[in-house]
Amino acid sequence: MITTTRSEELYERAQRVIPGGVSSPVRAFGAVGGTPLVIASAKGAHVVDEDGNRFLDFVGSWGPLILGHAPDVVVDAVSAAAAKGTTFGAPCRAELELAEAVTAAYPGLDQVRFVSSGTEATMSAIRLARGVTGRELIVKFAGCYHGHADHLLVSAGSGLATFGQPSSAGVPAAFAERTIVVDLDDEAALEALFTDRGDEIACVIVEPIPANNGLLVQRDGFHAKLRELTRRHGALLIFDEVINGFRVARGGAAERLGVEPDLATFGKVIGGGLPVGAFGGKREYMDRLAPLGPVYQAGTLSGNPLAMAAGLATLGALDRADAWTRLEELGAGLERRVAPLLAARGWSLVRVGSIFWMSLQDGDAPRRADAIDGAAADRYRAIFHALLADGVCIAPSAYEVGFLSLAHTEADLDRFAEALERALTKA
Ligand SMILES: *Cc1c(COP(=O)(O)O)cnc(C)c1O
Repeated sequence: MITTTRSEELYERAQRVIPGGVSSPVRAFGAVGGTPLVIASAKGAHVVDEDGNRFLDFVGSWGPLILGHAPDVVVDAVSAAAAKGTTFGAPCRAELELAEAVTAAYPGLDQVRFVSSGTEATMSAIRLARGVTGRELIVKFAGCYHGHADHLLVSAGSGLATFGQPSSAGVPAAFAERTIVVDLDDEAALEALFTDRGDEIACVIVEPIPANNGLLVQRDGFHAKLRELTRRHGALLIFDEVINGFRVARGGAAERLGVEPDLATFGKVIGGGLPVGAFGGKREYMDRLAPLGPVYQAGTLSGNPLAMAAGLATLGALDRADAWTRLEELGAGLERRVAPLLAARGWSLVRVGSIFWMSLQDGDAPRRADAIDGAAADRYRAIFHALLADGVCIAPSAYEVGFLSLAHTEADLDRFAEALERALTKA
């Protein structure tokens, strides 16, 4: 067992001055129980907590750290940028260069606007889609997460493709009613929805490879159908690439799936571990944004030189390292080791490149949110704590995916598989 006295003391203090002791809810270990570790430092594939325990990490700060923790290239770039000023509130070269890098990498993207989080990116993209089309309704999928803007904290109402209802207190019902929630893996429902209300729909937003509620890989043809329906009815297709972008391929899920959206949103990897988001698309749409057009959007720290330097250093390192080939090799290595351990129980490993998820239930891996078995969460809890006691960190929730980074080695994968084999005896 590990000693966590200092984490417990600090977390106790934090709970007095921060709601739930955390700055983002999943960190509180609510889904797995126990006291969250307070992290003191991290490097490469490892994190160290305040008690000095060192863990092999597969959380990767929930996706941004594709090079691992505190890579020298990013630390050096951020330090150099900081010495020249942390924010100017004026244009800077680094934002131009990062915009060039993102638009060059992503299929069909002419322009991007930087913001400071994924939430801001999706919120702004939706405002833009509404501004461009002059329509109000938006469509999202159950099990896709797009940050915490009001219009996106919405779950399905009762019945087929009815108006949504707030999934958080504080979201007005009138906002939620402008969002229609449909199931993934159900092209017939989408088709019916568009036949019925296609001329009222501003946009469909989707995580092309949904990775916030398990890893819900869609069948071939799903995205092409989305593309065809939205185009036919004059709605914009938004790919939320906040996790997928620069993670599953240089050109994100759009490149991997061969489908170009009208707008795309980014975050996580493009910020290299600093707070960055972006949204972009064809120039004809982006021209509608202020100062050129009537759709307002702004940010005091947007495009600040520190965050831009971290993003540029990260994207540059990915290109130099032929990262996506290496990440696929690492992912395949993980699958080779871990899939048989899970298969022995009738369970499965779901993986796309360097994103993985353990589906702890019998039968085929789920393709939609409501296909996930609640009993899997109980099994996950036991496995989570056994791994932690063994020095391995996975996400503190059964619904969250794991991330590999370029800092992981084959030896790390061996270590994970060995610890998981021991942990599975406790599930
Ligand atoms: C993380 C995430 C967001 C929200 O990004 P924040 O930076 O946490 O606001 C939006 N969409 C997707 C797909 C995400 O994974």
